[in-house]
Parts: sequence; C-alpha cells; structure tokens
Amino acid sequence: MRATVVGAGLAGCEAAWQLAQAGVEVALIDMKPAKKTPAHVLNTPAELVCSNSLRSDQIENAVGILKEEMRLLGSLILTAAAENRVPAGGSLAVDREGFSRTVEAMLRSHALIHMICREMDAIPDGPCVVATGPLTSAPMADAIAALIGSDLLYFHDAVAPIIAAESIDMTRAFRGSRYGRGEDYINCPMTREEYDAFYGALIAAEQAPLHDFETIRVFEGCMPIEEIARRGYHTMAFGPLRPTGFRDKLGKRPFAVVQLRQDNSAATLYNIVGFQTRLKFGEQKRVFSMIPGLERAEFVRYGVMHRNTYIDSPRCLAANYRFRDREDLYFAGQITGVEGYVESAASGLLAGLSLARRLSGLPEPDFGRETMIGAMAAYVFDPGLTRLDPMNANLGLLSPLPEEIRGRRERGRAMAARSLTAVESWIREIEGSDDDVF
Ligand SMILES: Cc1cc2nc3c(=O)[nH]c(=O)nc-3n(C[C@H](O)[C@H](O)[C@H](O)COP(=O)(O)OP(=O)(O)OC[C@H]3O[C@@H](n4cnc5c(N)ncnc54)[C@H](O)[C@@H]3O)c2cc1C
Repeated sequence: MRATVVGAGLAGCEAAWQLAQAGVEVALIDMKPAKKTPAHVLNTPAELVCSNSLRSDQIENAVGILKEEMRLLGSLILTAAAENRVPAGGSLAVDREGFSRTVEAMLRSHALIHMICREMDAIPDGPCVVATGPLTSAPMADAIAALIGSDLLYFHDAVAPIIAAESIDMTRAFRGSRYGRGEDYINCPMTREEYDAFYGALIAAEQAPLHDFETIRVFEGCMPIEEIARRGYHTMAFGPLRPTGFRDKLGKRPFAVVQLRQDNSAATLYNIVGFQTRLKFGEQKRVFSMIPGLERAEFVRYGVMHRNTYIDSPRCLAANYRFRDREDLYFAGQITGVEGYVESAASGLLAGLSLARRLSGLPEPDFGRETMIGAMAAYVFDPGLTRLDPMNANLGLLSPLPEEIRGRRERGRAMAARSLTAVESWIREIEGSDDDVF
C-alpha cells in the first residue's frame, strides 16, 4: 500500500505518521527547504510559524480534550511536543526548533516514510492527503482551484470573533430580524451613550502588527470594524450596526444594533456580524465586551487577519476530510477550515488514519460529535453552514451533555470524560478485532 502526503506541516506530518504506522508506504513531499512560504523560516518540517504554544493542557478545556484524544491515538506531534516542552503554566509550549527537529528525526527514522523536497503544482494520482496549509503556494492553489472549482477556494483577510451562545446575556440582548422577519439573529441594542463609549474605545484600541506577507488586498466586505469606525462617528451606525427595522424590548428604536449570527447547526456558537478585526486579542475581549449583552461573553475564537487559503469544505468534503468526488483523496490541516496548530494536526491524524483504513478495506473511524476530533471534522463539512469560517476547537462544537451540569469547568470535565471514553472504546474495539490498522 502506498500514499502521497503533500505538505509536511503540522497536518501533513501527522497524516504521514498515521499512514506509516498502519503499514502504508508514504512519500511526504514539501517544497521546504528549497522554497518557503513568507511565514516559514526553518528548514525542518512541522514548523510553528508564530506562537510556540500548543495552548492549554487542562482537560476541561476544548483544546486540552483534543490533545488528550490525539495522545490516545498515537499522535506524532504530541510525542515530539512532550520531548521539547518548555515551562508555560497550564499550557503546552515547546522549543520550536527542537520540536521541529524531533518531528523530522521521527519521520526520517520510520522505514515507510520517504521525505521528498519538491514544490507540487498538481494533485497526485492515487491515495493522497493534501495538507499544504493556509499559505499554499500559488501553483498548488491553482491546482486545487481547478479540482474543486475556483469559486470554492477562499482567500480571507479578516475574520470576525465567535462567541459561545450560553455566555450571551439575553436579559439585554433579544432575538429577531429586521422588520420582525423571523428570529434568526440575536441583537444587542445600544443607546447613544453606550455607542459613544464603544466607539471611543474601538478607535483607540491596539491592533496586532501586520507582517510583510499580510500586505494583501483587503476586500471592502472584510474591512476590519475598527477601520470602518475610523472613517467617521456615524459610519458603523449607518453600516453593520444600523438599527433600521428594530425596536428594543421597550418598543424604542435603539441608536445602534450589533447583530449576532448563528454559526453552527447546533446553535451553540454565534459570530458578531461585520466585526472582522485585527485588534489584539486582549483588546477584542475588552472592547467587544462593552457591547450590551456581551459583558461576560466567552470568545471561542478571536478575529484574526492574515492570508488564509482554504476550501469550501461543506461543499467539497465528506466525513473525515475525504474529498467528495474521489475515494482516495483527503485534505487536512488549515486548508480544510480548521484553525490552529493542534486542530491542524488533529485533522491530519484523522485524515491519515481514515485513508489507511480505507486502503486496507476497513471502515473509517466514526468518532462523532461527542469527541473533539470528530466534532471538528463534522463542523467543517456541515452542509448547513452557508459560509465556513476557520474554527478552533471549542466546547460548543460537542453535542450537548444529556444532563445539565453547572459551572464551565465541571461541564468541560464531563465532556472530556465522555469523549475519552468514546475514543478509548474505539481503540479497544480495533485492538480486539482481527484488523490491526491503528
Ligand atoms: C502567519 C500565521 C500565523 C499563525 N499563527 C498561529 C499561532 O500562533 N497559533 C496557532 O495555533 N495557529 C497559527 N496559525 C494557524 C495555523 O495553525 C498554522 O498555519 C498551522 O501551521 C497550519 O498547519 P498546516 O499543516 O495546515 O499548514 P503548515 O504548517 O503551514 O504546513 C503546510 C506545508 O505545506 C508546504 N507547502 C505549501 N505549498 C506547497 C506546495 N505547492 N508544494 C509542496 N509543499 C507546499 C509548506 O512549505 C508547509 O511546510 C497561523 C497561521 C499563519 C498563516
């Protein structure tokens, strides 16, 4: 059995490892070190391009759950991270160069993995995982666009924050659409005084610095909210915050309205409409929490701004990141619409494992929305999503617990226990069966 993995980033390395561990001979192809994206500087694979943190290791936390699931499933990335850990409180941070070197050593010492340096400009025939990342080089981006239809390949400059539905104060916010047409949105009405304070804080808030590789077109439709605000005091109130068609709970027309749009089928997540931003994360929390109803909002993903190439997964992919129109082609990593190092690695793990089992004629894993690894995959190919925005692991993606549990930590722990039981029982089932593809 043979397969090709294109891209030796977080996702591609994990996919190659899973395939090889299952007995598949893998050609792992990356254009590094001959050519690098504007964000990559190391010559070695699995490069952490920005922060050196794989985020929280607390089990009640969404990314903590995801990492624990990955450890159970034999993650290469987390093995290398453990060997290169640096002190970072409750987070898993690593020495990035040591981490990358360990990944390379593990890949090179595997008898079934062949590392090849080449910039790909076509999707290989035969079993394949494409994991060329958010900065996929132009020839490969063209090849992907040709495969899936150019209108299905997104280049996003700025994205808006997403918040947990349960953290919205519905005594201040209200449901409804303009002119009473349905209940689709959650609306946060502002008085003139509240708007004044918000406007002042927004235009003075600190922005994240732009790097060279981010000096790309900013589409008017993706204009950061702070840039819109800087155009004039009334610009937001005549634009994304316009109050037309609304009455508040007392029947009065608000001065401005911030709208929250449902972000997932389960309605556990909402994005703030028109709030794409490049404010620093701490500033987003401080300033956006001034919006009435969002005082205690839990931000499951902050707004970010950088080039990001990703496919319209809800219309292109089937379960476990498989391309709908080809049995042996999978996508993995940030190019599928997952966001973050760990999420990218997790998608590579699932895509690699699934392809390996498919090649052996075995059923693919079906981890479901009780596990973070399954819920992430289910999110990106949710056909109910009209627009896919890159998504971090978060508890809102998991199916709700059967019973109500008070307290975020307690709820997180209960969700973790449920997810790890599901992954462990899948592993036991595989180990107890005749097939050995895991
Ligand atoms: C500027 C920037 C900063 C980020 N910062 C963070 C952060 O701090 N924390 C976080 O969690 N996430 C961050 N992300 C998001 C994301 O998690 C990372 O980009 C992550 O590395 C994605 O993993 P990946 O495997 O999908 O892609 P990558 O890790 O980028 O791997 C893709 C690989 O494909 C190769 N490649 C590209 N095109 C070709 C081609 N045509 N032929 C052959 N090889 C090719 C590249 O050389 C690269 O090695 C950041 C993203 C960007 C763009």
